[in-house]
Amino acid sequence: MKTDVLIIGGGLAGLSLACKLQAAGRDWQLVEARDRWGGRILTETIDGQGYDLGPSWFWPGQPRIESLLKQLELSRFDQAYQGDLMYQDENGDAHRGQGMASMQGSWRLQGGLGKLINKLVEQLPAERLHLATPVSKLSEGITDADIEAYTLDGSVFNAHQVVLALPPRIASNLIFAPALSEQVIKAAQNIPTWMAGHAKAVITYATPFWKEQGLSGDAMSRRGPLAEIHDASPVEGGPYALFGFVGTPANHRKGNAEALKKAIATQLGILFGDVAAHPETIMLYDWAFDPHTAMELDQVPLHRHPVYGRPNALQNLWQGRLHFGSTEMGAQYGGFLEGALEVADEIAATLV
Ligand SMILES: Cc1cc2nc3c(=O)[nH]c(=O)nc-3n(C[C@H](O)[C@H](O)[C@H](O)COP(=O)(O)OP(=O)(O)OC[C@H]3O[C@@H](n4cnc5c(N)ncnc54)[C@H](O)[C@@H]3O)c2cc1C
Repeated sequence: MKTDVLIIGGGLAGLSLACKLQAAGRDWQLVEARDRWGGRILTETIDGQGYDLGPSWFWPGQPRIESLLKQLELSRFDQAYQGDLMYQDENGDAHRGQGMASMQGSWRLQGGLGKLINKLVEQLPAERLHLATPVSKLSEGITDADIEAYTLDGSVFNAHQVVLALPPRIASNLIFAPALSEQVIKAAQNIPTWMAGHAKAVITYATPFWKEQGLSGDAMSRRGPLAEIHDASPVEGGPYALFGFVGTPANHRKGNAEALKKAIATQLGILFGDVAAHPETIMLYDWAFDPHTAMELDQVPLHRHPVYGRPNALQNLWQGRLHFGSTEMGAQYGGFLEGALEVADEIAATLV
């Protein structure tokens, strides 16, 4: 299939770029490896309510996501924070009321962030969108000829420009012909994929019993398996939910999902009382073992937010026709949802 711009990756960056190219009347195609849209944005639905297993927050001072949500007529609400915090020490003992509500001031999207992805996809013509179409190889055209992108199902896309809207580490795993220099591959591999090493659990209940006890749903634990817990309930009605980031290292999580879920229920019982040990559902998603997000390198935990942005080695590749384009390229908001939109803006400005 021939096109002007091929976008590889249907996460927030790739879909937002597609919307901009569509609005500008450009010819483009988008290929996504998974059989769903959204990439690191993943929202599960229970009884019509959305629960985020990837990102859930955005913040004041992030102008693009704020204006996108307005444009798409989506509503945000405040992360629940009122009430006491729980703390679990290294011996496993629970203490009430210690610490601060760390996520006060964060915003969530009504219905979950999957709503944003669905709205973006609805705006785009279906014939330009290709799910379950992983690209495996890119071949540079000679002088002005098209770049050829080969997919695992055997189809070939010919494009004048190619945008790699996938984490740079994952992109560095593609076959490039001619091969990208060692300097380019190293630069891409040195960029950690934000949150790729994490596992997140969302635990649902029939009642918000923690609120009834004057608790916010926030908890910090030095014992685990969840290290940091917050309220994940919908803006209105149930099922009510808590969510937590798993503190157990990735190599100890592998193949242990059922044991981990049991340990999570036990821990929540200790922190929030016996009713918490008997949830309706426990949803667990381990991003560290999802090959479309994480590589082995990502299993090493990050202790702070890396300084992101486009390194010199990842600029002007293949005569300016090959662009790295995930959130990790964002100089100001790299790693965040806002960074994915920042990078889509930046690339659209060079292409439109
Ligand atoms: C658990 C977790 C919690 C997070 N919390 C927050 C938060 O609260 N707030 C916040 O701002 N950010 C958060 N983030 C980060 C946020 O999710 C990302 O910034 C954002 O989703 C990145 O979007 P992207 O489009 O750049 O990349 P991605 O979402 O990674 O999209 C890349 C896409 O490329 C596809 N792909 C991969 N390989 C190929 C291939 N060979 N061919 C075709 N397609 C391919 C993938 O399937 C994927 O759909 C969190 C992330 C995780 C995992």
